[in-house]
Amino acid sequence: EVVTRFAPSPTGFLHIGGARTALFNYLFARHHGGKFLLRIEDTDRARSTDAAIEAIFDGLRWLGLESDEEPVFQFSRQARHAEVAHKLLAAGHAYKCFATAEELAELRESQRAAGKPIRYDGRWRDRDPAEGGDKPFVVRLKAPREGAVTIADQVQGDVTVQNSEIDDFVLLRSDGTPTYMLAVVVDDNDMGVTHVIRGDDHLNNAFRQLPIYRAMRAIEGGWTDPVYAHVPLIHGADGAKLSKRHGALGVDAYRDELGLLPEAVSNYLLRLGWGHGDAEIISREQAVEWFTLEGVGRSPARFDLKKLENLNGHYIREADDSRLADLVAERLPFAPSDSDLDLLRRGMAVLKVRAANLLELAEGAMFLFRKRPLELDEAATALLKGDAPTLLARVHAALDAAASWDTEVLETAVRQVAEDAGVKLGAVAQPLRAALTGRRTSPGIFDVLVLLGREESLGRLADQMS
Ligand code: GLU
Repeated sequence: EVVTRFAPSPTGFLHIGGARTALFNYLFARHHGGKFLLRIEDTDRARSTDAAIEAIFDGLRWLGLESDEEPVFQFSRQARHAEVAHKLLAAGHAYKCFATAEELAELRESQRAAGKPIRYDGRWRDRDPAEGGDKPFVVRLKAPREGAVTIADQVQGDVTVQNSEIDDFVLLRSDGTPTYMLAVVVDDNDMGVTHVIRGDDHLNNAFRQLPIYRAMRAIEGGWTDPVYAHVPLIHGADGAKLSKRHGALGVDAYRDELGLLPEAVSNYLLRLGWGHGDAEIISREQAVEWFTLEGVGRSPARFDLKKLENLNGHYIREADDSRLADLVAERLPFAPSDSDLDLLRRGMAVLKVRAANLLELAEGAMFLFRKRPLELDEAATALLKGDAPTLLARVHAALDAAASWDTEVLETAVRQVAEDAGVKLGAVAQPLRAALTGRRTSPGIFDVLVLLGREESLGRLADQMS
C-alpha cells in the first residue's frame, strides 16, 4: 500500500510551498488508493506554536487535504527516537562521541583554514567509550565510509553522493533529545511511509537518512527505504526563491485577504510544477486520476499571482450561487438579514460574471443594500451631469408606466426613451446605472432593475432626476 505524508514544522503560517507539498502527497496517495498522513514536526520547542499548528490544520481543511488518520506529533515520540538510537548504539552502528564544543569549534576552524569541507572527523568512531567516563556525549551514526549511495529520485532522477562526503552526524544530543535527522526516519518508518515527496531543499538530508534505514534494517529487518521524490521549490516571477516579497502569503491570507476559492488555489498549486499536457482547469477528481510523479517538472515553477486570480475568476463563475452568496455575506460590512441573503442569492448569477475574487464580488454586490439617497462615487456623479437628470425623469415615467417588471418589458421601455430623445441607448443607460447603483460599473442595467425591484428602482431614479 502507498503511504505518503506531509510533515510541516509549525513555526509559521502554512505557506504556498508547503500547501503544494501537501497537495502532491495527497494526490499521489489518492491516485494509488493509499493513505495520506500528517505529521507535525514540532521538535523545535522554541519556534513551534499552537497558532501555527492551527493554521496548518485550518489550511489543509480549507484546501480539502485532510489526512486519513489522526496527525502524529513528532515531539511526543522522543522516547521512541531515543530507543532507536540506543539500538543503533548497542549494535555498533552508532557510537558515543565525547568531543567538547570547543574541540569541535577548533576542528572546524582548522578545516576552514585548510580550505577543507567542514565535517566531523570521526575522532570517537573507533575509540573506547570508557575513555569518555561520565562526561556528556552525543550519539553519532557510524556512517559507511566506502562506496556511494545513489537515490533513484522520482523527480530528480538518479543522484549519487560518495559516502566519504557524509560525516558521522548526530542522532542524539547530549541532553538525550533526538535530532531532526533521526526523528524523520523513525517516524516515517513507524508510520509506514512508502513515498517521501517533499521540497528539494531536503535532497541532501535523504543521503543522511538512508544510512539510518540501512543500519536499522541490518539490525532487525524491515526498515525499507522509502521512494523519494524531491520537488523543486517555487520561485517568484523574478526567478528567485519565493519569499514574502513576492506576495507569498500564508494560505489563510489567500482565503481571507485575497478572497480566493480553495478549488482555485488548489488547481493553481497543482499546475505549479506539475502538468498534464496543456490542461489548465483541472478538477480534484481529474487531478487524482492524472497525478503521477513523472508529471512533476525538474525546474522550479514561477509563482504568478495574476494567473492565480484569473483562475479564481473562472472558479467563481463555476461556483454554486448560494455558496457564493454565503461567502460574500461574511464579507459584507453589515450583518445581512434573511431577505438580504435571498437578494444576494438571486443576484449572484449576474454579480459573479466579472469578479476575480470575493472582495470584488462583495464590493460589486453592495449597491443592492445601500440606502437611499445613494452616495454616488465620483465617476457616477460625473455621469449625472448635463441633461442626464432630464433623461432620467423620462425613464422614470416610462418605467412607472411599465405593465410588468421583467427584463424584456423594462428593456423595451428604456430603448423607447432613448429613441424618443434621439440618443443612443448608452446615453440613457449610463446615468440610469449611476442613479441605481451609485457606480459606473455594475451588472447589466436591466438585471439591476429587476433585482432592486420596482419601488426601490423608481425611488433611486427619483432621487437623481430633475
Ligand atoms: N519538517 C520539514 C519541513 O517543514 C519537512 C521534513 C520532511 O518532509 O522530511 O521542511
